[in-house]
Amino acid sequence: MIEQKGILFILSGPSGVGKGTVRKALFEQDTHLRYSISMTTRNMRPGEQDGVDYFYKSKEEFERLIGQNKLLEYASYVDNYYGTPRDYVEETLEAGHDVFLEIEVQGALQVKENFPQGVFIFLIPPSLEELKNRIVGRGTETPELVKNRLNAARDEIEMMDAYDYVVVNDQLNHAVSKIQSIVQSEHCKRERV
Ligand code: 5GP
Repeated sequence: MIEQKGILFILSGPSGVGKGTVRKALFEQDTHLRYSISMTTRNMRPGEQDGVDYFYKSKEEFERLIGQNKLLEYASYVDNYYGTPRDYVEETLEAGHDVFLEIEVQGALQVKENFPQGVFIFLIPPSLEELKNRIVGRGTETPELVKNRLNAARDEIEMMDAYDYVVVNDQLNHAVSKIQSIVQSEHCKRERV
């Protein structure tokens, strides 16, 4: 069999859809995927660890990394920067491992420009009503912010056509097993003797 380089998988979708939960559940299973830990300027939440959940950076450090072209993509989200370290992704793919990104929509569209051969997966809520319930259920947003997030989600959902796969996040285990199937089928697509 001809040696293949790794495949880049990108999981994205509207705010509040549960990307982080799905990604964590996927990585709790036995997976060969390598998760690319993002950089962020947001504060560490209780229970999070530097170098595990994110690499936590100051705004100045982050802007220096942008200037040095060290980020494959980045986006400003709710007043903080989030970005994907370029070297980790490129070196890990080059070494033949699959890399998995979990990022918001603007960032995913930037990755698509640089890595059109990536596999783009869009996670959607069963309905906008359900998304609203999830955002309200977090209890962290004012009614005004809930409205803004839902408007943003409507715009983000319009980006769906740019993706290769759409996964409805109705039940966590269903969403995870669909993503595992996507990973498998992408490997089968590339399997050549
Ligand atoms: P949170 O602050 O809840 O951890 O993440 C907020 C949002 O940022 C989520 O939608 C998450 O998917 C997204 N995100 C996390 N890392 C990155 C990244 O490296 N780049 C981009 N563009 N978005 C990211």
